[in-house]
Amino acid sequence: MSSTDALTPQPTRTVGIVGLGLIGGCLGLDLRRLGHWVYGVARRPATVAAASEQGVVTQATCNLSLMAEVDVVFICTPMATIVPTVRQLLEIVPASTVVTDVGSVKGEIVAAATALWPNFVGGHPMAGKSESGLADSELGVFRQSPNDVKPIETTRSVDVEQVVAIATQLGSQVYTATPSAHDRAVAAISHLPVMVSASLLHTCLNESDVQVKTLAQQLASSGFCDTSRVGGGNPELGTMMAQYNRPALLEALQQYRYQLDTLIELINTNQWDALEQALNIAQQERPKYL
Ligand code: NAP
Repeated sequence: MSSTDALTPQPTRTVGIVGLGLIGGCLGLDLRRLGHWVYGVARRPATVAAASEQGVVTQATCNLSLMAEVDVVFICTPMATIVPTVRQLLEIVPASTVVTDVGSVKGEIVAAATALWPNFVGGHPMAGKSESGLADSELGVFRQSPNDVKPIETTRSVDVEQVVAIATQLGSQVYTATPSAHDRAVAAISHLPVMVSASLLHTCLNESDVQVKTLAQQLASSGFCDTSRVGGGNPELGTMMAQYNRPALLEALQQYRYQLDTLIELINTNQWDALEQALNIAQQERPKYL
């Protein structure tokens, strides 16, 4: 927290979190640290107990009716259950409640959820870990990370402001974008890397010489740790990224295949100057993404 944040009084809100896994847990920890009341809903009683034990929530239950008392609801469940959760909330939350989500893909979700609940504001914190589940939640995950908020034409600015205010308080750098621009951008910088990194792991696993394969596992160090991290993450999340962002991810993969073929050709034909030039461009441009 910066010294300015410490001096600026922030309103205390009652915030609901549906889905107390990795992201829901991280959110609860930060919101509580900021002094908000956090009401959590989990699917399993064991998660309710763990969330209370870990201090992620002020109060938790498996019953969605707890959301009747909150100002803003964050849906932090897997992508497939975000819209069904909004549908369930219709009968529970007052008309003034802002509903937002953290799903990694936005097009279908924002369109379907806004049709059900006009006060829906799509969100996506670009933060996370390879692990999944509440046990790996920690404080400060959203600090200095981008958070993309996706208003569409009908989204009320007053609702967007509420979500932006909370994301800013969490320390995120907030950007706004249309759902389709968001999905194309994250296909390139998030979903493609998961597939590339998983392919890298499969390439290593396919080494037919057992001795070489074992030696590679022994020699793998920080570089391999960096490049394999996202491919070795939550398989359910990676599959849903592909399923929900299929056209944009396929386009990114085709472009990646073209780039790989170009590099193969340069190496195969001993075009070392051209290869170095390609690597120079990569080195110079990388900071723009970090
Ligand atoms: P996770 O650790 O697997 O947690 C998902 C949680 O959702 C589980 O705790 C599960 O509850 C709960 N859940 C599933 N169905 C539910 C339902 N119908 N009602 C209530 N709770 C339900 O997953 P995650 O990584 O936090 O991902 C959650 C969301 O965040 C996804 O939409 C994902 O796209 C997005 N996201 C993830 C990352 C990342 O790096 N992980 C980053 C940005 C955004 P139980 O424990 O009770 O079974």
